[in-house]
Amino acid sequence: MKYLVLFVVVIVGLMFIKKAQQPRSVRPPQPPPKPKIPEAMLPCSHCGVHSPASRCVWRDGKPYCSEEHARLGS
Ligand SMILES: [Zn+2]
Repeated sequence: MKYLVLFVVVIVGLMFIKKAQQPRSVRPPQPPPKPKIPEAMLPCSHCGVHSPASRCVWRDGKPYCSEEHARLGS
């Protein structure tokens, strides 16, 4: 019985050591998250409604809120 306890202690000890020796997950340091830059809001050249730059319809270098206004022009 004494040996059984000793055996368990040794096993637990070995497991603990093994766990401690495991290389910690090597992850490259992650760059800090970039602060989200609010998207530029551009006024429609036809009606003046501000739309996000990525959703603007561009015509002749001018932003428009929709295809319709791009067609109508400024
Ligand atoms: Zn418009």
